[in-house]
Amino acid sequence: MAIEQKVRQVEALYSRLEKEITAFKSATNLHCLVGCGKCCSKPDIDASPLEFLPWAFHLFLNGKAEEVLLELDNSPITTCHIYRPLALLEEYNGSCSNYSYRGMICRLFGYAASRDKYAKLRLAICKIIKEDQLENFNSTEKLISDGLYVPIFTDYYMQLAQIDYQMGTILVPINEALKMAIEEVLHYYAYRPFPGGLENIA
Ligand code: SF4
Repeated sequence: MAIEQKVRQVEALYSRLEKEITAFKSATNLHCLVGCGKCCSKPDIDASPLEFLPWAFHLFLNGKAEEVLLELDNSPITTCHIYRPLALLEEYNGSCSNYSYRGMICRLFGYAASRDKYAKLRLAICKIIKEDQLENFNSTEKLISDGLYVPIFTDYYMQLAQIDYQMGTILVPINEALKMAIEEVLHYYAYRPFPGGLENIA
């Protein structure tokens, strides 16, 4: 499959997920705290390269792919390369510098569930939201057990794998996933004409 087509399919999957999350949020009123970047500042987030393919393609179209790849190659930091803390001493306050191109894990966390060993759906949510919105959290758990639709991690990762099994099923540290996504785009266009006849990009 052509890389542009894979990018479009991942974006279509994100757009379906976005609609489901919007409905879930409005049914539950659960929401991230403004300015909180705690989950993005975790040093051990894993992701698949495919979920960052739209981001890598966007960089490529804007002539930034090689530059960002070099930054990733030279960075010893394990927190997400896209995350921007507000200040050096405030690593938990910050935001995603490329929010519209964030990965699937970033979209699902907080608004999706996984099944426990009894097949019960458990919302994956951070301690901060749980404590800050305890009443909402408890009523959401009840709504889910009564049948409220909630996106499910494994369902979405299965749909991602259907687009590209190899790139969609490897889970690696997030910065490795970012690098692999950029490399995929650069390799693809190494011997092919650039999209839309664009030249001098990368
Ligand atoms: S891509 Fe953005 S939302 Fe996802 S972990 Fe990195 S900074 Fe956070």
